[in-house]
Amino acid sequence: MKLIKRYQHLFKIRYLRLFIRLWLLAACLSVIAIAIYTYENPIADKLAREAQNTKNNIVNEVTELHPVKVAAIVTPHTLEEVVDAVKKHDHVSIGGGRNSMGGQTASERAVHLDMREFNKILNFSPEAKEITVQSGIRWRTIQDHIDASNLSVKIMQTYSNFTVGGSLSVNVHGRYIGLGPIILSVKKFKIVLADGRIVDASPETHADIFYSAIGGMGGIGVICEVTLTLADNVNVARSRELIPTENYWAYFSKNVRNNKKVVFHNGDLYPPNFDAVSAVSWSETDKAPTTSGRLIPQRQDYWLDRIAWVVMSEWHTGRWIRRHVIDPIIYGSEPPVHTRNYEASYDIAELEPENRKDSTYVLQEYFVPVENFDEWIPKMRKVFADNDVNVINVSIRHSLPDLGAKLAWARKESFAFVVYYKQDTDEDSQSHVGKWTRDMINQVLSVGGTYYLPYQPHATDEQFHRAYPGAIEFFEIKNQYDPTGKFTNKLWDKYYSPEKLAYFRAWKKQLESASLVKDYFRPYDNAYLSLPEWYIVYAADEYAAVMENGLPSEFGYLQANRDYWAQYDQVIKLTETSLNNNEGYKTVLNVIGWSFATENTIKNIYENTIGRASEFVAGNTQVAEDKYAAKVAKDYAAFIYDYPWYDFPYFSYLKGLWALDSTAGHTFGQALRRIERKAILSVEYGLKTLYSRAIAYATHQQFGVQDDMVSAIVTRDGGLTSELISAPHYQPFTKLLLTELEKEHNNPDFSIMDIAGNDKITFCYKDKPGSPTVNRGKEILRDTELNRLMDGDKEFVDRITVEANVKDLVLIYRQLHKKQADIGHFYDY
Ligand SMILES: Cc1cc2nc3c(=O)[nH]c(=O)nc-3n(C[C@H](O)[C@H](O)[C@H](O)COP(=O)(O)OP(=O)(O)OC[C@H]3O[C@@H](n4cnc5c(N)ncnc54)[C@H](O)[C@@H]3O)c2cc1C
Repeated sequence: MKLIKRYQHLFKIRYLRLFIRLWLLAACLSVIAIAIYTYENPIADKLAREAQNTKNNIVNEVTELHPVKVAAIVTPHTLEEVVDAVKKHDHVSIGGGRNSMGGQTASERAVHLDMREFNKILNFSPEAKEITVQSGIRWRTIQDHIDASNLSVKIMQTYSNFTVGGSLSVNVHGRYIGLGPIILSVKKFKIVLADGRIVDASPETHADIFYSAIGGMGGIGVICEVTLTLADNVNVARSRELIPTENYWAYFSKNVRNNKKVVFHNGDLYPPNFDAVSAVSWSETDKAPTTSGRLIPQRQDYWLDRIAWVVMSEWHTGRWIRRHVIDPIIYGSEPPVHTRNYEASYDIAELEPENRKDSTYVLQEYFVPVENFDEWIPKMRKVFADNDVNVINVSIRHSLPDLGAKLAWARKESFAFVVYYKQDTDEDSQSHVGKWTRDMINQVLSVGGTYYLPYQPHATDEQFHRAYPGAIEFFEIKNQYDPTGKFTNKLWDKYYSPEKLAYFRAWKKQLESASLVKDYFRPYDNAYLSLPEWYIVYAADEYAAVMENGLPSEFGYLQANRDYWAQYDQVIKLTETSLNNNEGYKTVLNVIGWSFATENTIKNIYENTIGRASEFVAGNTQVAEDKYAAKVAKDYAAFIYDYPWYDFPYFSYLKGLWALDSTAGHTFGQALRRIERKAILSVEYGLKTLYSRAIAYATHQQFGVQDDMVSAIVTRDGGLTSELISAPHYQPFTKLLLTELEKEHNNPDFSIMDIAGNDKITFCYKDKPGSPTVNRGKEILRDTELNRLMDGDKEFVDRITVEANVKDLVLIYRQLHKKQADIGHFYDY
């Protein structure tokens, strides 16, 4: 025993070493296993899949999530062949490198122009630092050509596989500092329009075409011959700093933003906490390149990168390994010096997984005005966390404003947040991505930003128009040059049609004037948060109904309490992922809830003891004070549909109670009940007078005295014109909408376009118990307690609260109208 104790520490060290060795062995074996497993040539496989697709007229994109069976595939080599193809076909979609990710290069109803063999260099002038190319050419081909003259592409993406036409059409950006979208480096181009005309476009000639085709996602015409300005191929040295995220904006402003020496810069935010940025700059230097070769050799085998992506996306500790093992190794070595061309010649092959059958790597991108950096980070982080997004990296880039392009994504100086993540390919995963993408778009809109069009088109029409306010003008230019909508793809199939243009033109016009209306825009969360408040209104209704012919002990006070808190819990759940600060509102709901619950509890005890005794001695019939209390309950129930409860004139009703004629004939028992009622109602109305004044004061302190008008935008002629309608908050606004819906429900051109800046609304209606939710509505609450609370003789109903797109309200109203189910209230924020 002693011997063991004496040598215990040696045992421990030995076990520790053994453990470390086993761990290292296991790690090496895993790496080798993954290497063997992934040692295939994914690029060759991908090309084989593409060849097979082409035979079947299928056009797919890099993620392979959106295959589209097109009418035919045409591969032009000359300008004449492009003209010919455009003239011949009614619908045309255009494809370059197919790295956009949502079918932006194809449509079922269109012929696909595969531009990749339209790829010649037409003119190169090293003196003028200019090059003219056919648009299907890839950056890498240009780099191979101009490198000998020590010139570089001025603005391009990080990778060099993309085509010039695809890049212009997306209006791409890179990691450059002091630059921005590619539009800032384009001198001119020739474009083939829908009628086959070839037009020269530049900022001076056909500027409308220039500024709409660049960034126009293949919607204006076929960009054919492009003249670009070039830059010097300087040598660049790398530097790197690890910075807490909250200091990045200050660091960037001081060291990078106006530093003329910095050529490339990007900051990688480390998931899952996004609390640190690896800020990497490549700055001009006189030092000679330390890397052999002027450009990155092509067709390398990227098996090690493939393993790294799997580790980072699949291993629990993968992100930790990247931050604390891989990056320190990469950035701990002597900083390299590259030529600018070398640093701009990456190959997307390094990102290609073994296959994309069950899961695939995908990109998204959000643009945020630089000054809103700090506000954006927690919003983005929250959407990822709430939706369990498998984020591998978020890269931050910088862009100067683009004041020309109609579909500009950087209307102000912006940071781009490039999100690289992994998703599964099954239907559920795809719709989950759609959901969190829309959440993310809402968040980016809330900080004055926008999202990128070449990625999966999950945005709603309204989100698209809010993110791209120039879209209407863009569509008008499209209409002018392409009146039949010849140029299309999955993106424009979704967001463009003459009807949609008319609709959103009117909406936008009206929204501009609505923006001038004070407090027009209201946060959507309020629609949820007002639900428990409205429950109290309905409870008052039900109480008044019981009191009309019944007695106070018949009301289910405790049931009403349970209902209130159930609704409260539900709305807290509905708003828990919201990023708005709803604390003030929640406090109000708590105050209201506790007052409601306290009052009901006291009444429950009183009315079921003393109250019941006095009802009994009075022969269980209503005395004059009971009738008066029933009238007060009815007036109160009607009042709070239109006004806040604390404005109810309790004191006047107290006076009315004492003005009742006390000489009316009654039995002794009824006389007793009258005294008891007068006393208890005086206490109730008296206390409520004081309490309501206090709450009115507190509410005005918290929220100020609100301007109570709520407005909506409607059209009566399918969007040719639109108008703003307004009514006071609470029930008058509901009445206004109901009147409009009633008046116009047979008008197919009537539609509600927007309510208080929102494209969704929550409302309730009453229907038979257990009836299915109305089509196009998402049920969020069903209140079946009406069965118990209502007078037994009345028809039992469910009160169903649903959420719907405002645009669908007409259709919903028609359904409800048919089955005579009443809309009770629109929760008007
Ligand atoms: C790995 C990866 C990295 C990326 N990095 C960046 C980046 O750093 N910066 C950035 O801005 N974007 C980036 N992107 C996004 C984007 O998809 C590309 O910038 C661009 O679309 C690629 O060009 P492409 O040739 O593949 O275009 P495609 O995807 O083929 O086409 C894009 C759009 O352009 C239209 N189009 C193509 N050719 C023409 C033409 N001749 N005339 C008219 N319209 C045409 C198409 O109809 C389509 O709507 C990246 C994408 C991937 C997959």
